[in-house]
Amino acid sequence: MCIFCMIAEGKIPSHKIYEDDLCLAFLDLSQANIGHTLIVPKKHFDNIISLDNDLAGHLFSVTSKLTKAISKALGVNDFNILNNCGEVAGQSVHHFHIHIIPRKLNDNIKIELSSNKLTDEEFINLKNLLIENI
Ligand code: AMP
Ligand code: ZN
Repeated sequence: MCIFCMIAEGKIPSHKIYEDDLCLAFLDLSQANIGHTLIVPKKHFDNIISLDNDLAGHLFSVTSKLTKAISKALGVNDFNILNNCGEVAGQSVHHFHIHIIPRKLNDNIKIELSSNKLTDEEFINLKNLLIENI
């Protein structure tokens, strides 16, 4: 059984801040900044590719609600809301989860995106390929 399934089943402790029928939220053990929180479904899904779409909607709704609560409680208005899908993308616990990470000026968190230049034709081909698969 994975570590977040064990937390969901109460087999190992966590600093839980929210729970409903479908999900729970608890403080990340490694507080990237104070208030760093994880939202996890109670049922095991490896990642967003296997995650049920309706459940994804519920999890994002809870993420929105908790971000507002953390903002109010800690007086923070800047956040990264993120999900790592797959090891290459930095996923270390293979039970889907959403991070809420409060941000502060000059904190040491670095999330940098590189940039690829595409021609108009490449954009159109890429767009059509994606549309065909939705
Ligand atoms: P990720 O790298 O996106 O898979 O994130 C996994 C997160 O889970 C990391 O930020 C860890 O600090 C956190 N984590 C791992 N084990 C626990 C635990 N038992 N309780 C709370 N957070 C945990
Ligand atoms: Zn699990």
